[in-house]
Amino acid sequence: MPQTFLPADAPGAADTEPAARATRLTKLYGRGETQVVALDGVTVAFGRARFTAVMGPSGSGKSTLMHCMAGLDRATSGSAQIGGVELAELNDRQLTALRREKVGFVFQGFNLLPTLTAYENMTLPLRLAGRRPDAAWSDTVIAATGLSERLTHRPAELSGGQQQRVAVARALMSRPEIVFADEPTGNLDSRSGAHVLDFLRASVDELGQTVVMVTHDTVAAAHADRVVSLADGMPVDELHEPTSGAVVDRMLAFETQGRLIG
Ligand code: ADP
Ligand code: MG
Repeated sequence: MPQTFLPADAPGAADTEPAARATRLTKLYGRGETQVVALDGVTVAFGRARFTAVMGPSGSGKSTLMHCMAGLDRATSGSAQIGGVELAELNDRQLTALRREKVGFVFQGFNLLPTLTAYENMTLPLRLAGRRPDAAWSDTVIAATGLSERLTHRPAELSGGQQQRVAVARALMSRPEIVFADEPTGNLDSRSGAHVLDFLRASVDELGQTVVMVTHDTVAAAHADRVVSLADGMPVDELHEPTSGAVVDRMLAFETQGRLIG
């Protein structure tokens, strides 16, 4: 297969090559009568140092898209690339290595290890990869969490919002190409959620991270630079510089359309 995209280190590539892209990506679950088309040919690109929200009804394929683009699951067909690297061309060992080096993932449940301190949780993936956290970068990330005074606390000694900020810091620690967050504020009250969203926003604005976040919440989506909406495994709408009001309006317009058509 010809190399269609510039290598990540080519001159000017950083400006033009998105952090991640999907091209006609499909994912089927099961077979025969019970087969589900979770992704039905998704083409989307996530530009560097941009914050994108992914919205859409339950079952529209948001989590599947995150998992297939992050290399946590394999697509059925089509292309998923991180920093110009085609995931389908990697064997399992290479995929694991790419995930460790280039991808951060934040889940709805914080997935912290209860016996480790906040700092140990943040740096665990790096240490598992046999790398030391870069001191300057780790200081920057920790300062941005607002948890500098709580680094020796264990998860049970932290609030939900604080735990999720530890999980975001953990995702940022390897300075990944892209951070995927699947409903990161779904389990949080609105005030804790706001802290997590501010942290994600700051990681984009101040640290230059690329963030893609699934959310149901129009207020959360308004923290992003762009909203991509999925329905039935396909992107159906896009909004730039969204306000929560604009996101609500667009969702209502879609519901009305659906009712008229259906
Ligand atoms: P969302 O995150 O938007 O709620 P998902 O990506 O989780 O949607 O799911 C998309 C579709 O794929 C749904 O119909 C869901 O039931 C189905 N699905 C997701 N994961 C699996 C799986 N492991 N096995 C079978 N079907 C699945
Ligand atoms: Mg989901």
